[in-house]
Amino acid sequence: MQFTDLGLAEPILKALAAKNYATPTPIQQKAIPVLLQGKDLCGIAQTGTGKTAAFALPSLDHFARNPRQTPLNGCRMLVLSPTRELAAQIAQSFRDYGRFLKLSVEVVFGGVPINRQIKALSRGVDIVVATPGRLLDLLDQRAFTIKDTEIFVLDEADQMMDMGFIHPLRRIAKLLPKERQNLFFSATMPKEIEALAAQFLHDPVKVSVAPQSTTAERVRQQATFVNQAEKQALLTLTVRNEPIDRALIFTRTKHGADRVVRFLEGAGIQAVAIHGNKSQAQRTTALQAFRHGHVKLLVATDIAARGIDVSGVSHVINFEMPNVPEQYVHRIGRTARAGAEGVAISFVADDERPYLKAIERTTKVKLDVVPLPDNFMEAVRNLPKPAPPRKGKPQTPTQQAKRAEGQRRYQDQQKQPQRGAPDRAHRVEGDAPAKKPFRRRRNDVGAHKGAVQRTGGR
Ligand code: AMP
Repeated sequence: MQFTDLGLAEPILKALAAKNYATPTPIQQKAIPVLLQGKDLCGIAQTGTGKTAAFALPSLDHFARNPRQTPLNGCRMLVLSPTRELAAQIAQSFRDYGRFLKLSVEVVFGGVPINRQIKALSRGVDIVVATPGRLLDLLDQRAFTIKDTEIFVLDEADQMMDMGFIHPLRRIAKLLPKERQNLFFSATMPKEIEALAAQFLHDPVKVSVAPQSTTAERVRQQATFVNQAEKQALLTLTVRNEPIDRALIFTRTKHGADRVVRFLEGAGIQAVAIHGNKSQAQRTTALQAFRHGHVKLLVATDIAARGIDVSGVSHVINFEMPNVPEQYVHRIGRTARAGAEGVAISFVADDERPYLKAIERTTKVKLDVVPLPDNFMEAVRNLPKPAPPRKGKPQTPTQQAKRAEGQRRYQDQQKQPQRGAPDRAHRVEGDAPAKKPFRRRRNDVGAHKGAVQRTGGR
């Protein structure tokens, strides 16, 4: 089957051709014909399956065939997404697929000033992609209305539930008009999600592409048993030894993500973190740096990483094991996309063994147990200190790279035997041998401030 067989409007086919998309993915093949008939749909599909286009293409087709003035302060289509990143990504897909149609697309989420969003929405918009919290703010302020919505999409419903969005969703449901088309997507469909779906959907057609809780077949899955306190040393070795193009490293907590980044930086390895405590600007910068390959390692919490579509992720590293098996499936689904192969490496501490068991039971896949590397104990002993927490403005990826390189050199020099001139170990200029033994005078401190301060300024 080709996209041209689906009966989509010409401008949409043109946009697909421009992206070199010829063959619909399985979820698109199943969902698009149903949606073109105007039916409700309940889809079980993970990100990476092409589900955004599965709901965007038939909706764009509807707008292409039924042009209408946008409702004042309102929209014709509302898409709800759990995270800001996913919302921005979905909006971009609508813009891409709808580039030959004259449609307006706005994305609204928290963490950025609301006034600009109010202004953008005031004239009415065709497609609004929103996170539930900010949408409710706008609705409560009466700056926006969803009473004219023709198509409503709830994406990543299971994640919405995990994030505690159930009450906002119920409130939003009450404000939608009775007559509308509903689309509901979730990667998993436990009972409580089914109950939520029933509140939104009317006689839906059910489609499913990946059987619930199966893990990507092309992902090589490994586990290494390691003490929690020694995981950082194992991570440093893994990052150095594995042929990584891009790796996503998962921690359970935001604080944990920052700590991992600081330890990596301490070892001269550049990494960025993305989680809910970061400002929107920081999250966007980190994601862009990762997407464009300026930074190879992105450390993330589950919620921040959910739905992020970055191609070329060769490795997923579970620095901490997820306590819910489905979360493991989502995590490793970030790699082995678009026909590529991927590696998922799990660091399992003693108290995480039950999580591993639950994952293996659910996915019916036994992870390959990989022993600790030979030089592991040495790496534990020589683990560099974490870089101090950063204050002030976020650094650019280039600044971060320079900083990490400086730290790596400093750490290397610290490890060298301090023969002859003890102060040489504190030099940070580079690898060139010093012509004369370096003697620090009292008033020299300024030039070597960083090194002197970090060693206690003896
Ligand atoms: P999604 O599951 O919507 O996040 O999509 C995953 C990735 O697949 C995105 O980068 C899409 O642009 C891409 N994609 C979606 N549909 C197709 C298709 N029919 N052919 C090739 N790539 C696609």
